[in-house]
Amino acid sequence: MNLVLFGPPGAGKGTQAKILQTERGLPQLSTGDMLRAAIAAGTPLGRQVEDILAKGDLVSDEIVINIIAERYDQPDCKNGAVFDGFPRTIAQAQALDTMLGARARKIDHVIELKVDDKILLDRVEQRIKQGIARPDDNPETLKNRLEVYYKNTAPLLDFYNKQGKVVTLDGMAPIADVTDAIAKVLGA
Ligand code: AMP
Repeated sequence: MNLVLFGPPGAGKGTQAKILQTERGLPQLSTGDMLRAAIAAGTPLGRQVEDILAKGDLVSDEIVINIIAERYDQPDCKNGAVFDGFPRTIAQAQALDTMLGARARKIDHVIELKVDDKILLDRVEQRIKQGIARPDDNPETLKNRLEVYYKNTAPLLDFYNKQGKVVTLDGMAPIADVTDAIAKVLGA
């Protein structure tokens, strides 16, 4: 099974992806995590994208499509994966469909976690207070990340709606309730 977790920054995609990974053995494929790992390791890719992540802009489609294709061909994705933070543009979604199609696979569900902007800001402030904020977790960068989300990423809902794949869930519900709602969608 291949799932896309969809929603604005801070909607809880990473949290739910980790739960799905633990409970169903579906690896979490987070392009954000992969890019941050490249930055931490000081690789040429990391140096190339560092400033872009700091600003909250999108890195190029080509970069993320390549890292996802390479990651998806690892043996642990043999039963599928949970895509977290990818795709973020129509070009990425098309590339993902092509990549999966070439492997006789497809996206089964796109799970949208809906959260009000105000709550997203509250969540960032909480992470800052708790000392667990990422470098791009600050009110200014969040504002840009949200703008980028509404401009480039939200239109993907239409793309996936046309494929009849979108299920919208309340991302403001307690974590366990969101997990249960996802389980219902997945049929278990
Ligand atoms: P995330 O952890 O998913 O919030 O991603 C953190 C940052 O990594 C984003 O603000 C972008 O700069 C970059 N990024 C992650 N995934 C993508 C993607 N699919 N396309 C373009 N940029 C991405």
